[in-house]
Amino acid sequence: MTKIVCVLYDDPIDGYPKSYARDAIPEIKVYPDGQTTPTPKAIDFIPGQMLGSVSGELGLRRYLESLGHTLVVTSDKDGENSRLDQELHDAEIVISQPFWPAYLTAERIAKAPKLKLALTAGIGSDHVDLQAAMENNITVAEITYCNSISVAEHVVMMILSLVRNYIPSYQWVVKGGWNIADCVARSYDLEGMEVGTVAAGRIGLGVLRRLKPFDVKLHYTDRHRLPTAVEQELNLTWHPNVESMVRVCDVVTINCPLHPETEHMFDEAMLAKMKRGAYIINTARGKICDRDAIAHALESGQLSGYAGDVWFPQPAPKDHPWRSMPHHGMTPHISGTSLSAQARYAAGVREVLECWFEGRPIRNEYLVVDAGKLAGVGAHSYSEGDATGGSEEAAKFKQ
Ligand code: NDP
Repeated sequence: MTKIVCVLYDDPIDGYPKSYARDAIPEIKVYPDGQTTPTPKAIDFIPGQMLGSVSGELGLRRYLESLGHTLVVTSDKDGENSRLDQELHDAEIVISQPFWPAYLTAERIAKAPKLKLALTAGIGSDHVDLQAAMENNITVAEITYCNSISVAEHVVMMILSLVRNYIPSYQWVVKGGWNIADCVARSYDLEGMEVGTVAAGRIGLGVLRRLKPFDVKLHYTDRHRLPTAVEQELNLTWHPNVESMVRVCDVVTINCPLHPETEHMFDEAMLAKMKRGAYIINTARGKICDRDAIAHALESGQLSGYAGDVWFPQPAPKDHPWRSMPHHGMTPHISGTSLSAQARYAAGVREVLECWFEGRPIRNEYLVVDAGKLAGVGAHSYSEGDATGGSEEAAKFKQ
């Protein structure tokens, strides 16, 4: 008998949905690089329905209880004596989504002597102290590729929204105005601009491919270079480091994981190297940017706009400066949890759990930490160490 604790975001304020805007979602079987979408033996949910909130339970309850396991689902994850803290002492598996992360700090890991698997229902396991996971022989896995294209679509939407000044223009309509000059005083065409991505992994490359038809000049920097054929196909300029790329870009999109090497990569010094009036779109992780430096750069005009859906910590406190800074297009962390993405990562979680309970290996591409070291996607894309510092501030959201 295993105890599984699953931390999910709250249901909609009007209650768990009784109906949906669309009747079905397209079935995707293979990702762009040939990797198959999750292949569980069965699922107990209807793809396209809400799975990521507490009542959705990632569609796991029937399956886990049929095997005699205990499933605890909660959204109460922060602050003194949260439900998560109460349940950790005998939990073997903790499942969490980056959108509403259960920060598994070294202190929490110390309170969970039975913990064997920290499973991310999504991509990005920086909410787990990976160093502590390695030292305590906890396997960390995520559902690689499940929402990479969801995010790539969101990035393109946000680039266009900022450059064309969509959000303030929409607000003029809602306010009953027809203020064309107000709307266009900050509105430009994307065509011809220099657009660069920090990292050209699954999301970064997806963004580059989607932007190609906009006739922009595309740049990237990454620890590993893309194949020459891809560089030629997309007419990409590769940069050996972030500094070199940001000097020439009008738009920078950040698509690398958060780990000690990338934490606060966009600080005051990096922002000063950017072109005046550049835009940043960050759907990777809030902590890759220095919170106050971003707000100052928008106030001074060094940046024309900043958009994204990732914050630190999450949920962001009500007084987080990114809620009120000028020219931002922030949303809560949503890009990777569309109903379409939820179906894929819920199926991926089911696949990993089936492997775990049947003693079969978890797909290598899902592994971040295994047998005390970085493994699978973790060995390729992360670095050792911990990026959870300061996460206790998430408790401020409740105040
Ligand atoms: P991938 O693993 O496919 O890509 C990550 C890329 O980042 C790799 O190409 C890796 O390079 C590169 N990278 C790592 N460190 C650095 C560095 N120091 N400098 C430059 N490049 C670096 O992951 P995805 O593209 O699928 O996802 C990327 C991140 O996006 C996730 O880790 C997560 O934080 C975030 N994300 C956000 C979501 C949302 O809802 N907003 C949803 C999904 C993901 P290499 O492997 O070549 O070393």
